[in-house]
Amino acid sequence: MTVYAAPGTTGSIVEYRSRYDNFIGGEYVPPVKGDYFANVTPVTGRPFTEVARSTAEDVDRAVDAAEKAAPAWGRTSPAERALVLNRIADRVEASLEKLAVAETWENGKPVRETLAADLPLVVDHFRYFAGAIRAQEGRTSQIDDTTVAYHFNEPLGVVGQIIPWNFPLLMAAWKLAPALAAGNAVVLKPAEQTPASIHLLVELVADLLPAGVLNVVNGFGAEAGRPLAQHSRVRKVAFTGETTTGRLIMQYASENLIPVTLELGGKSPNIFFSDVAAERDAFYDKALEGFALFALNSGEVCTCPSRALVQADIYDAFLADAVERTRAIRTGNPLDTETMIGAQASNDQLEKILSYIDIGRQEGAKVLLGGERLEHEGDLAGGYYVAPTVFEGHNGMRIFQEEIFGPVVSVTRFDDYADAVAIANDTLYGLGAGVWSRSGTTAYRAGRDIQAGRVWVNNYHAYPAHAAFGGYKQSGIGRENHHMMLQHYQQTKNLLVSY
Ligand code: NAD
Repeated sequence: MTVYAAPGTTGSIVEYRSRYDNFIGGEYVPPVKGDYFANVTPVTGRPFTEVARSTAEDVDRAVDAAEKAAPAWGRTSPAERALVLNRIADRVEASLEKLAVAETWENGKPVRETLAADLPLVVDHFRYFAGAIRAQEGRTSQIDDTTVAYHFNEPLGVVGQIIPWNFPLLMAAWKLAPALAAGNAVVLKPAEQTPASIHLLVELVADLLPAGVLNVVNGFGAEAGRPLAQHSRVRKVAFTGETTTGRLIMQYASENLIPVTLELGGKSPNIFFSDVAAERDAFYDKALEGFALFALNSGEVCTCPSRALVQADIYDAFLADAVERTRAIRTGNPLDTETMIGAQASNDQLEKILSYIDIGRQEGAKVLLGGERLEHEGDLAGGYYVAPTVFEGHNGMRIFQEEIFGPVVSVTRFDDYADAVAIANDTLYGLGAGVWSRSGTTAYRAGRDIQAGRVWVNNYHAYPAHAAFGGYKQSGIGRENHHMMLQHYQQTKNLLVSY
């Protein structure tokens, strides 16, 4: 067991600057209006640094810098860009522990996850897209005896990227790696709750990129995100966040007729068919583990398996075991490597979750576990902690239909296959889903019948770089990860040549 020292205390491996400006054109630049806001750690509820509060003027400067840098970067060879991406990956890997602790401090998620999952995935995404850009080929078609059509993959130019707070560094990597690999210059806006992790990354890798290829503008959505999405010289907006914000981003982007990638909310079903309980073996154990994953990252995951659907004939026994498995989750100081659930990312998020717990009770859902704020002592007393909560109810309730984004699962029963698929699809969203069955046929059929961009079968919450990720229905537009993502950051140039 290791308990990392809190940043700002003796022995911490993370040091923050007292203030973060915007990173524009290869240097730190103060915001035009000179305003800053506090960056608070959810671990203790106290501020630990301050960050530029940017406006349209700052976005404009960043777009200027990106526009200047884009042509030369876009003309570099795939091999050169791959080399840079691999070097970024190496630097992140060499500082993995420091970045993991920083991400934990800023977001509240347990360090065992940032060490074992978030940061290794960041490294892998840069390496994956380094390989993918080298492997990408153009196409030729012979039109007739003397004429050939060449198809080239050209970068878009300047792209705007707006990310959320739940996986700050991983969301940055999902966006930066393919965009940079494809030869674009980027203006990135981190979430206002978690900008510091992004700046630690920038400090680590900035010298590997030509000035202006990567720019970071801090600030709030309406003040800095909106002018970025509306900017007339931005050629694409990639956004991850709430569905309601996604609708706005699409409106903004439509003003300049630019494409969007939208990774939005979810209310993912996790379906347990009765054959799961045929034996109390390793498979059954894995399914229980899969149930408890609703609490991963304190439930602040867009694909959180927040609706558990359990077949009626195993319902009582399975649910009893699943509640016991959830009870065993260790909560507490996220800087302790034994902790499995840490703090919620912000006070707003804490209050939102607690309000949904009230709503669930008022709707008549039964609380089988948790259902309250967790109070810790000492330094953690001011932090934002919620007990993993299991509700039992039906799919018409708000706690089954609305994204809570906390460690809360709503469980219901289904009778047969058709019932399971109907309940699973009875939602506005279509991001993730889980299917648990020993029958290959049931698992395959359900995987195809569920309307979601990612269906995990007999596993959950894996995010490999080479598997396409994105939403059906109101969970988004476009895909991330997988080499197909490169094309979302490129346009096709056709040269029609007669010889
Ligand atoms: P959010 O939509 O409030 O904010 C996301 C980002 O958008 C932030 O950087 C914010 O500053 C910015 N923003 C807010 N309003 C804006 C506006 N009017 N114009 C431009 N930018 C604006 O979302 P959040 O609360 O930070 O993140 C949680 C949400 O993200 C959840 O709904 C979750 O499901 C979703 N999410 C989705 C995925 C996915 O891949 N589908 C991954 C992670 C999170």
